[in-house]
Amino acid sequence: MSYVVLARKLRPQRFSDLIGQEVIAQILQNAIRSNRVAHAFLFSGSRGVGKTSAARILTKALNCLEPDNVDPCNACENCLEISSNASADVYEIDAASNRGIENIRELRENVKYAPARCRYKVYIIDEAHMLTLESFNALLKTLEEPPNHVKFILATTDPHKVPVTILSRCQRYDFQRIPLPQMLEFLNQAAVQENLQLSQKSLELIARHATGGMRDALTSLDQVLSFAGEQASESEVRQILGIADASMRFQLLECLFRKQLGSAMQAFQEIYQHGFDLQELLQELLQSVKTLSLYLALSGDLSFAEVAEDEQEQYCQLASLTTQGELQQMFHLLMQLEEQMKRSVHARICFEMTLLQLASVQPLVGVKDMLQQIRTLRQEVDGRVDSPGPVLAKTRDQSNQFQPTKSPTNPSFYASAANVASPPHVVEEPPVSSELPIESFEERASVAKTAIQRLKAKGSGTGLEQKKTPNFGIEPQQSLKPTEFRERKSSESWLEVGSEQRDEPEEPPLNWQEFVQFVHNRASVIGTLLRTALPVDLQADVWRLRFRHPPDLFNKEHQAKLEQLAQEFAGRSVDIQRDDQPTIEGTTLQEYDQWKNQELKRQRESQAREDAQVKDILQIFAGSEVYDIELH
Ligand SMILES: [Zn+2]
Repeated sequence: MSYVVLARKLRPQRFSDLIGQEVIAQILQNAIRSNRVAHAFLFSGSRGVGKTSAARILTKALNCLEPDNVDPCNACENCLEISSNASADVYEIDAASNRGIENIRELRENVKYAPARCRYKVYIIDEAHMLTLESFNALLKTLEEPPNHVKFILATTDPHKVPVTILSRCQRYDFQRIPLPQMLEFLNQAAVQENLQLSQKSLELIARHATGGMRDALTSLDQVLSFAGEQASESEVRQILGIADASMRFQLLECLFRKQLGSAMQAFQEIYQHGFDLQELLQELLQSVKTLSLYLALSGDLSFAEVAEDEQEQYCQLASLTTQGELQQMFHLLMQLEEQMKRSVHARICFEMTLLQLASVQPLVGVKDMLQQIRTLRQEVDGRVDSPGPVLAKTRDQSNQFQPTKSPTNPSFYASAANVASPPHVVEEPPVSSELPIESFEERASVAKTAIQRLKAKGSGTGLEQKKTPNFGIEPQQSLKPTEFRERKSSESWLEVGSEQRDEPEEPPLNWQEFVQFVHNRASVIGTLLRTALPVDLQADVWRLRFRHPPDLFNKEHQAKLEQLAQEFAGRSVDIQRDDQPTIEGTTLQEYDQWKNQELKRQRESQAREDAQVKDILQIFAGSEVYDIELH
């Protein structure tokens, strides 16, 4: 007699045999008992959880000649025929290979005729989601109003691919994965029945490996038996299923938590050389990381995690080496690895590279901790400096002062501003933090600290509080020594003014604006330079060009060109002279535009702050800033 695989031999024959699906079995039994059996069912669930078995039992129960209560007798003619797949009235259709419209048309034709011997004609359509859309549509009408002697049972592992129109015409039952303890109990019974001498641990390995599918578990059991006989050892079971030894896995995890890359690689090599499946190893690592995460989140309660008793202690030890944040990052990296392994033929390389990353995972600093650290830092700095100085400004514009390379006080800033071909405008920059070329929090903190101390050491000579004085308050006649000038230059130009409210500066005369625009259209470089010059009395015969920050770029050639353009503009000969005497009177176009932009920005900001949602955010997240406002 030929060998019948366990999955077939131990196939459920009665409703009570449906392990893990007690609720569904109960509902179906009740329906039969009260004679309210629907005409179409959809059984969904992952593979091997009992969908087809349930469909067969239901079919037999509906057609059994001598039912035992509502269970099929499994002995009468009809039951035997259905069990052996020989009944003329029961059609098991595999939709994966009979998905075309012609198959469904045939079915529709066939439905009309009364059953030959059974009470009901039953159509079991397996993997129903594989049907084409056309086939589904052809099936709709029949499914809605089939003849009284017809029942449909659709089974699918992927109910999302079944059209809603079909779903709504069926009674749907979702089959659950079989829980580990129930599966283990069944495997134990099967082992006794088949006279197998497998250890409890081996059976548990098989059950765990099957992840809730009984057919997979029985197939694995068959595999173990045919390879290693009836007394397979635990290590043989591992070998056959490709499962890494738990101790090896724990060792690998421990090395990763301790950031010992060398040892981690060695542990991985060992696992690999044992021939264990990398995909399996990945699943187990994911499982372990999840379990540890649960362990930490639930303060040591492992009842949710289906952990074998002898592994609990190891989990406890591992949990003491890691944190929730680290585990979350590791989980993320392992999930990425899963994606990579699906696409790559270099599974091992991907794995090793991920181990490298896993061994260098650093716990992230939460926003809360970060804020706390900043507060501590501030207090520390305040404590060290004797005289009370300005505190770290909250607005982003002022915080730009601490930016080492892009600070507007840096002389090169003006040179580069004068260099650009088009008129410079104030661009709302991204948050300062993203511009800093400094990586770690500690480094940033130390830069900020130095900056604060430097400012405080300077006292009232320069710094933030100076900027509150507008430059227009200074008398034009007031003479300045070069040193004084430089100091004012760095502290009082419009370019460095923060977002605080300022009086409106004097607008450059309209004819000056027109002239600069005229020049800009004809010679953009000169136009750009003129934007940094103070307005000139265009009625005068000699135009004295005075720059706030005399640019090196403005040469004789420019001067000649400008004279030519001025003559064109004014309609008379104009003498242009460059006056490099320091001056602070008046407003350049660049400064005026900058003021306008800041004004606009401030208006937008106060508008944004009025917004209810923004208000909420500012209240909840203390220390939040409003910037980069975009209007939609
Ligand atoms: Zn029967």
